[in-house]
Amino acid sequence: MSDLSALSSVPPAGVSGLHRDAVLKFFYGPMDCGKSTLALQINYNHRRQGRHGLVLTKHDRSGGPRVTSRIGLGDEALEVGDDFDFSSLVRRRTAYRLDYLICDEVQFYSVEQIEQMAGLVDDCDVDVYAFGLASDFRSELFPATRRLFELADEVCRLQVEVLCWCGRPGQLNARTVGGELVRAGEQVIIADTDEADVRYQVLCRRHYRSGDLGKHSPQS
Ligand SMILES: [Zn+2]
Repeated sequence: MSDLSALSSVPPAGVSGLHRDAVLKFFYGPMDCGKSTLALQINYNHRRQGRHGLVLTKHDRSGGPRVTSRIGLGDEALEVGDDFDFSSLVRRRTAYRLDYLICDEVQFYSVEQIEQMAGLVDDCDVDVYAFGLASDFRSELFPATRRLFELADEVCRLQVEVLCWCGRPGQLNARTVGGELVRAGEQVIIADTDEADVRYQVLCRRHYRSGDLGKHSPQS
């Protein structure tokens, strides 16, 4: 191998006791595409196989420290607050085994917390399965999501038949206020503030761009 190559030489498998490294996997898709359902399914499968994990979330639709899905599943979860430190899980790990994390609503985590998740994978052999939105209502990446695209070992786009009103695949999360699509404002609005008329609607790119919410929009 030439010295100019960007690739390191790797000894053949089996010779040096190579093992499977822990992975950082990121699953993303529009709102209501089944991300939380898949998160709960992965947690269930790993538990059945005798692995020990934790479920974390931030601002779940239930309003409590739980991961819940539209189809009625739910698991207890740790709430990831602004000052939550993922490396604290390693200290707790001395008390119990920790094989994996299921992290839901990761678009709301801080970039620093995404870095900490990568550290858990590399330094502590903990698998991290992250689930979240790619883009906000302005069709721009969330900062945490951007960092996950940069750092994840695998990025999987979920497209579980979420359709725009026109029948095209849903891709973007539009925010409406008073039945009108808006393109400016706070990136995150927590539910039940005084802005009760804020809603979200998944649209195809064409109708996100045109602002056409279809005849079944909430205000019609
Ligand atoms: Zn459409």
